[in-house]
Amino acid sequence: MHIAIVGAGIIGLATAFELRSRGAEITLIDAAPGLGASHAAAGMLAPTAETTWGQDSLHQLMASSAKEYPAFIDRVEQSTGRKPAYVENSTIVVAAETADMEALLQLKELQTSLGFSAERLLGSAARKLEPALAASIAGAIFCAEDQQLDPRSLLRILIDEFDSSIVRNTAVRLMRHGSRTCGVMTSTGQEIRADQVLLAHGLGTLEGAPNLPLRPVYGDILRLQGPVRSPLIKRTVRGIVHRQPVYLVPRTDGSLVLGASSREDGQDQVNVGEMHALLDNARRLVPGIVDTTLNEAIVRARPATPDDRPLIGRVDDGLVISTGYSRHGVLLTPFGARLGTDLLLGNPVDEQQLNSVSLDRFGAQLANSTGL
Ligand SMILES: Cc1cc2nc3c(=O)[nH]c(=O)nc-3n(C[C@H](O)[C@H](O)[C@H](O)COP(=O)(O)OP(=O)(O)OC[C@H]3O[C@@H](n4cnc5c(N)ncnc54)[C@H](O)[C@@H]3O)c2cc1C
Repeated sequence: MHIAIVGAGIIGLATAFELRSRGAEITLIDAAPGLGASHAAAGMLAPTAETTWGQDSLHQLMASSAKEYPAFIDRVEQSTGRKPAYVENSTIVVAAETADMEALLQLKELQTSLGFSAERLLGSAARKLEPALAASIAGAIFCAEDQQLDPRSLLRILIDEFDSSIVRNTAVRLMRHGSRTCGVMTSTGQEIRADQVLLAHGLGTLEGAPNLPLRPVYGDILRLQGPVRSPLIKRTVRGIVHRQPVYLVPRTDGSLVLGASSREDGQDQVNVGEMHALLDNARRLVPGIVDTTLNEAIVRARPATPDDRPLIGRVDDGLVISTGYSRHGVLLTPFGARLGTDLLLGNPVDEQQLNSVSLDRFGAQLANSTGL
């Protein structure tokens, strides 16, 4: 079976990987593979720390995908001979002040009620784990099950792996045979016919695709370089500073990912005010970041849905969609790649999971836009 995938971000590439391992022939179409939201992501796999009120269905998906991660990474390593930078180094969520600690303790109640492991730490205990934390912190929560993946390492491996199957062009139109999608036309007029088409195009658009209820939520994010031999922190440090969230994710090369803003102002350039706030808040948690150097400041838009759950489902006999991964696309990659693969190959799927991400929950918009 030949499957054309529009979009070589983490979702398109991971789905291509799963499909290929089940015997499918893949063509990926993307003018800038791996340079969308996935390029900016911090890669926190944080079902515990990312818990928020009123999102039970999302939490179930996050927890389920986090469990799938080690096996997914093993499969990538076995198949490609290269290991993605997946690190089980846990997460500490730090409160800068007493009021922030109150907010954290309320969150801990929710986390534990959902079955996540969340342990309260006094400031002194948190500093024993991470000595670079400021002496002034009010306390912390230890999230043993929250890990990280450097998304760029996975993107690099999979882009190399599929190199000869990537058409480096923009898809401009879905081709149809009757009511069935049968391929994709690119901006150079190339027609790519396929048995099935997957739209994993993030916030992208093309003619004939459903008008999905997506909006760009911009995230400014920094990469700092610290010492390689004695890294500032070993675990991901998330924090609340004056009720504002901030995080520092340590990579194995001594660099730190500092993020991230959340803006809906349509401005696709790095925002200086957001950079300042991120640095200032991070410095309150880990004062030593003032001695690091700046590697990068970038911004990308998260493809966000109204309820933060992705949009995965079949649109017609030849078309499946997998997008809208919002803030959790890296975490949800094993889940999304598996579900997309099963839908494309016509395999049985977990109905409860499918319902929680189905296009039907926004059915009115889809029907209006496609005329289906
Ligand atoms: C600052 C920031 C930090 C984040 N941190 C985390 C995190 O810590 N943990 C986490 O789980 N998630 C995180 N996310 C969210 C995560 O990055 C996204 O949910 C995820 O990357 C979405 O992946 P994707 O493949 O759907 O989209 P993308 O990576 O955007 O890929 C879509 C691809 O489609 C291509 N495309 C679009 N239109 C077309 C077209 N017409 N033709 C051909 N190609 C097309 C684009 O070029 C792009 O390469 C973060 C996001 C941001 C912005």
